[in-house]
Amino acid sequence: MSDQGSEEPPKDKKKKSGGPQFPFGGPKLPNFKPFGGWKFSIIYILILVIGMSLFNYVFLKKVNPTIDFSEFKSKIASGEIKRVELTDSYFTGYTTVTPRRETTPRPFLRSSNMAEQDPVYRTVPLNDLENIIKLMDEKGVAYYGVSREGSTILNIIFSWVLPIACIFFIWRFLMKRLGNMGGNVLSVGQNKAVIVAEGDIITRFNDVAGVDEAKEELVEVVDFLKNPKKYTDIGGKIPKGVLLVGPPGTGKTLLARAVAGEAGVAFFRMSGADFVEMFVGVGAARVRDLFKQARDKAPCIIFIDELDAIGKSRINNIAGGNDEREQTLNQLLVEMDGFDATSGLIILAATNRPDVLDPALLRPGRFDRQVLVDRPDLLGREAILRIHAKTVKLAPQVDLASVARSTSGFVGADLANIVNEAALLAVRAGRQIVYQQDFSEAIEKTVAGLQKKTRIIQPNERRIVAFHETGHALIAAFTPGSDPVQKISIVPRGFGALGYTLQMPVEDRYLMTEDELLGKIDVLLGGRAAEDIIFGKISTGAANDLTKATDIARKMITDYGMSKRFKNMALTQRGAGMMGQQPQEPVFHREYSEATQQYIDEEIARMVEQRYNLVRERLMESKSLLDKIAELLLEKESLDEKEFKALLGQPIEI
Ligand code: ADP
Ligand code: ZN
Ligand code: MG
Repeated sequence: MSDQGSEEPPKDKKKKSGGPQFPFGGPKLPNFKPFGGWKFSIIYILILVIGMSLFNYVFLKKVNPTIDFSEFKSKIASGEIKRVELTDSYFTGYTTVTPRRETTPRPFLRSSNMAEQDPVYRTVPLNDLENIIKLMDEKGVAYYGVSREGSTILNIIFSWVLPIACIFFIWRFLMKRLGNMGGNVLSVGQNKAVIVAEGDIITRFNDVAGVDEAKEELVEVVDFLKNPKKYTDIGGKIPKGVLLVGPPGTGKTLLARAVAGEAGVAFFRMSGADFVEMFVGVGAARVRDLFKQARDKAPCIIFIDELDAIGKSRINNIAGGNDEREQTLNQLLVEMDGFDATSGLIILAATNRPDVLDPALLRPGRFDRQVLVDRPDLLGREAILRIHAKTVKLAPQVDLASVARSTSGFVGADLANIVNEAALLAVRAGRQIVYQQDFSEAIEKTVAGLQKKTRIIQPNERRIVAFHETGHALIAAFTPGSDPVQKISIVPRGFGALGYTLQMPVEDRYLMTEDELLGKIDVLLGGRAAEDIIFGKISTGAANDLTKATDIARKMITDYGMSKRFKNMALTQRGAGMMGQQPQEPVFHREYSEATQQYIDEEIARMVEQRYNLVRERLMESKSLLDKIAELLLEKESLDEKEFKALLGQPIEI
């Protein structure tokens, strides 16, 4: 079956960029609560104001309200005021002779009756200094001036120290908030990579299951890191970049950790979204910084998770391009070209959107190795369940194989979730161990969620897919000169495909004979023919196959001159490209009449029908084989080359 019908629109669930951005901390923005923060500092300011007034109240002289100058004068005359302090703005009259601060220590808090014992009078001076001094001289009142400037230490505190302290605290507070948001203003360019030192990673390849092909490839990477000399001595080049590609939750991040754990080297982990910032140039600076740090720590692994966040193609950028991301991507390319393969630095990256990556990233010397991390098949799922069930107490009768059987289409993360959910259900039921029934319930819960994401196929649909794929594979095996079948699978594959049959060309081909083209058409039609034979009805699953088959048939007639009437004639003319080069998209000119068009259509229909009948006949002849293989495929979900050949009864070639 091929990609059609259930094609999901590409959705970026993991995309973190976009949305409102704040200059100093893109990705962590959601945690930022501006109002919570400001309320906080308003409280601080309130406390400060109250504190200051209290301070004033306690330490500054408590002074009675001002009195009239005439009253002040008469109080001096009556001898009530014994001492007067003169400043530009006030005259303060005291009823004690000696300044209090020299005799009795000032009490911390003034009691109300103290004011009565020791009244202080204050007045606004009039331009009558000479007379009042004369009066004071007469009455023997002590008087003295107080300089305004160097007045008291309190004045200095209030006018200078406190405001500065305030500003300092507010600044500190703001800095701290910015720091929490993922960056200091002064270090915007520094990266936020999580650096895990050597020996801190406990993940090993044993913790990953169901992705054996990917594991095999990565074992080699570990060997590169452990014994780089082995490869460089012979003149080989160590790969610089390995790209892990696969649907979400299949264990890409886990695999990267396992590589670092196995190799025993430091591990720099960063998400693509961490590079994307508001300021142009910040992401590029982070990339530079990351590589600088990594070079100092080599041998080590740089792991860029969700590479698509920065690695999006620059070409299909309709909205005029994002300068920041482009610069970041360019810097990444520069850094990857910049280090030399012997430095013991390997860059791992993961993505579930390989289709949107910039082609420049995939060129030799960059992420030249791509590792497919696919959905696990039956055995893989069982192995993953075993890994996660290790820490859970299972009842002896729990059959993880049967759990694996009923979780077709689940990825590793789903399975880990199921084990956890089953354990939680057991706890809720008040049990000490997990029973099979807990697993069944956990699966049901999860299936409901996954069905919405169209990752679960109904059992009757699975049957159709199994026979369809077996039809492709059998015809491929029967057709001489056809590429051998490498794998048949009914594990639903990302991007809408329900199953697939993988054929591997034995050698590079530049020419194809007429028979080979017909063979290709046959293999493509095999899927629908098998459905037809077994179920007596046909489904939409073959749509993509039919498009391809029709396309080949049309080309045979119009381009390759392989039809009876227009033998050796090309009916379409390729437009010449610029400067004699092949244009990117050749322009076709139709150089034939309506009647010829009709002939072409009829000829295509005739050719496809003839091939279809042939294919159907061949499959009818070996219906038992079709049944046998499809049933086994239903059970095991995927068959490799060896298993398939064994079923065919062919000698097994290595
Ligand atoms: P990805 O990065 O591909 O989206 P992760 O590596 O983050 O997926 O997987 C999430 C979790 O799911 C892992 O921490 C692990 O517990 C579990 N898991 C996923 N795939 C596997 C696997 N192949 N084997 C074991 N556990 C897996
Ligand atoms: Zn098909
Ligand atoms: Mg991940």
